[in-house]
Amino acid sequence: MRADPLGFLAAELDALKQQGLYRRLRILEGEQKPKTTFDHRQVVNLSSNNYLGLTTHPKLREAAIEATRRFGVGSGSVRTIAGTMDIHMELERRLAAFKKTEAVVVFQSGFAANAGTVAAVLTKDDVVISDELNHASIIDGCRLSRAAIKVFPHKDADAARKVLRELPAAQRKLLITDGVFSMDGDLGAVPELCALAEEFGCIMMVDDAHASGVFGKNGRGTIDHFGVHGRVDIQVGTLSKAIGALGGYVAGSRTLIEFLYHRARPFLFSTSHPPAVAAACIAALDVLEQEPQVIDRLWENTGFFKAGLQALGFNTGLSESPITPVIAGDGALAMKLSDRLFEEGVFAQGIAFPTVAKDKARVRTIVTATHTRDELQFALDVFAKVGRELGII
Ligand SMILES: *Cc1c(COP(=O)(O)O)cnc(C)c1O
Repeated sequence: MRADPLGFLAAELDALKQQGLYRRLRILEGEQKPKTTFDHRQVVNLSSNNYLGLTTHPKLREAAIEATRRFGVGSGSVRTIAGTMDIHMELERRLAAFKKTEAVVVFQSGFAANAGTVAAVLTKDDVVISDELNHASIIDGCRLSRAAIKVFPHKDADAARKVLRELPAAQRKLLITDGVFSMDGDLGAVPELCALAEEFGCIMMVDDAHASGVFGKNGRGTIDHFGVHGRVDIQVGTLSKAIGALGGYVAGSRTLIEFLYHRARPFLFSTSHPPAVAAACIAALDVLEQEPQVIDRLWENTGFFKAGLQALGFNTGLSESPITPVIAGDGALAMKLSDRLFEEGVFAQGIAFPTVAKDKARVRTIVTATHTRDELQFALDVFAKVGRELGII
């Protein structure tokens, strides 16, 4: 018998176990709700990206069921062959109007939107100037493009300017930041970077995955929040978080979108969404426009919970959004905190290296519009108990 050629993987997993970083997947036994059951335990759920509770909104559910009845369960093809349905085009038109851009192209996920777009727009002769905490899908897109990658320290526009000054004027440049950073919940230096992009002639790109449905009027994102409409050439959003379903999109000029129709590889080589997904996303846009109070509730809950954690003495970093990290430092301690919270009835996922820096391990909390005050107070009480027990506060 030959030796297992994948044996080295078992060794790597053992190493993770020894460092206390091995994770089992938590299994959700019902709907994605603020109070629900994971691994047979009822918990207050602070781990989803379901900011507005739209995963279970009756309008989205009905729209998905109705689309399935009328159009079936699958699109049957990639967009560029036979898989572009009316409903895909309707979603793109609705998103373009919502984002106030000429056009939008929808991808299967936010990941595919970022990676596919960066890789399509840039070549090996170009350069990306990227915030050090940008999302993995941006980094993968940069790598796939084979462009040179220049990373600037988090949110540091002055450092980005120094990088830009060193680059040849004629070289094509993409300046890129997350709108909201997914692990720290702080906002990208969007206005400062827009000014730099204009000064140095860069393509300006913002990944608004965590801002979609959360920031700006009716949840239009950070471009709206900062009032920089027309100054960001490539806006990425996700349909998988606050929008409650699945997908990602790029909003920009008609030319950009037509180019991506021809060159973005996930668009060309991977099947389009089932009609139910597109229908649910359209219904979500209706909700954002007709029930914006849900976004107000999200922010009220955010304020209450963040203030509560800070009053207890936790280090919540620099968060400006419904994402509030509770920084423990050491990776094993963060995982222990997450485990003990769970035993006491609160689900806040532990996050360690390589997702965040080695000394910045944390549990990440995300409140939603649908949490009740009682649920959030219960969570704060559990944080207080477990935080003291582990010597974090
Ligand atoms: C979640 C996330 C994505 C990926 O979006 P999906 O739709 O889940 O693939 C991209 N960028 C950022 C910043 C994210 O947080």
